[in-house]
Amino acid sequence: MINRSDKWRYLGLSVLWTLLATGFTSLSCAEDVVLSWSGYTMGPITYVVKVVAPSEVDLTEVQNEISSVLDCVNHRMSTYLPDSEVSRFNKSESPDWFEVSPQTAVVISRAQEISRITNGAFDITVKPIVERWNMGAGKQDTFTVPSAEETARLKLRIGFEKLDVRIDPPAIRKVAPDLQIDLSAIAKGYAVDSVSEKLQELGFVSHFVEIGGEVRAHGMKPNEQPWIVGIERPIPNIRETDCTVVLKNQALATSGDYRNFVEVGGKRRSHTIDPRTGTPVENSMVSASVLASDCMTADAYATAFMVLGPEEIDRVSIAESLGVYLIQQEGSKLQRSFSGEIPFQEAPPSEASEAASTIFPLFLAAFVLFGLAVLGMASGVILSNRTIKGSCGGISGTTNPDGSTSCSVCQNPASECRDKQAN
Ligand code: ADP
Ligand code: MG
Repeated sequence: MINRSDKWRYLGLSVLWTLLATGFTSLSCAEDVVLSWSGYTMGPITYVVKVVAPSEVDLTEVQNEISSVLDCVNHRMSTYLPDSEVSRFNKSESPDWFEVSPQTAVVISRAQEISRITNGAFDITVKPIVERWNMGAGKQDTFTVPSAEETARLKLRIGFEKLDVRIDPPAIRKVAPDLQIDLSAIAKGYAVDSVSEKLQELGFVSHFVEIGGEVRAHGMKPNEQPWIVGIERPIPNIRETDCTVVLKNQALATSGDYRNFVEVGGKRRSHTIDPRTGTPVENSMVSASVLASDCMTADAYATAFMVLGPEEIDRVSIAESLGVYLIQQEGSKLQRSFSGEIPFQEAPPSEASEAASTIFPLFLAAFVLFGLAVLGMASGVILSNRTIKGSCGGISGTTNPDGSTSCSVCQNPASECRDKQAN
């Protein structure tokens, strides 16, 4: 039996349950959409994050969490922040173990592994050379190319073998007192992985993260649509897609000197250093894209492949199960090559179609110019109300409604038209 006060209580409870149930139903029935946001990190580098979630989800909390993940990476690994772990290590000349965060130790340990696998093509100790070539933090206003002697001296200051790392307890150690490190070629990829892991942890299984061109994507977009990313065509100052790739729980990173370079004495120099020569790389490679299961790996190998030759790239990509897409400059042409599996959604252009794509705009421009010239001449004739000269274009063959022809306007009639002119 229910008394009066119980009745109100039950009524209240049933209203509450109904409200909750309606709320849950509308939540579970709400369509998933792609919610995205963007910002800057590590100074001027842009980032984009996309998650698949119901449209009404408030992402403020998530955005704050992602910002703090990015800030943490920056405060640990930046060479631009004077108090970062890396900057403090660079200032120290002590040969003792230098305590770092577990995250920094993991990144440096992976960097050292990749240095060993690439026989030193990837080397985070290149910092003195990066700075000397005016490409790092402390940029100078004036710049001169280092002499061979200076390059030889700079080379003595680098070498990944002069750096030790240990994971537990996390620490790094320099063998030479002036050894310095630069994580720019791996930290962006690591930041992408860290954001991706945070999103997984927060329950956003399907997501996309891009930091300064390095990308990782998980799950699918609504309606089972895959995440698709474009690989840029390596042409300075022009943003064009060379081909598109489907990413399924994978990462893709691209290195190239078409956007990031220094100009010295009218010559373009790559921002990638060849540790074997101690100077910016000078080879035919203009862009190297690497597909891997994590972005830290993809990022570092993309830089290493700007340094290595094709045979070494093949060896490393097979050993490390990487997908590789290379673009090389051969004279005036771009030459593409692959290694491993790359799930292209739209294949890169063939040489023939690329030639056609460069000829077609020229052809179109010539056609438009010709059209304009004809139009200009025609309007000149019409506007000045001149009579028609030369070929009548068939006027003599047509008659006006009153039976006459327009041959009288012709100044240069052919012999068979002369009799028609009288009309
Ligand atoms: P990209 O995306 O073109 O690879 P990154 O910013 O990821 O560009 O990496 C380039 C940076 O890495 C350089 O500015 C320099 O600080 C550093 N770097 C240059 N050469 C090497 C190298 N051989 N190994 C490791 N780091 C390098
Ligand atoms: Mg990179």
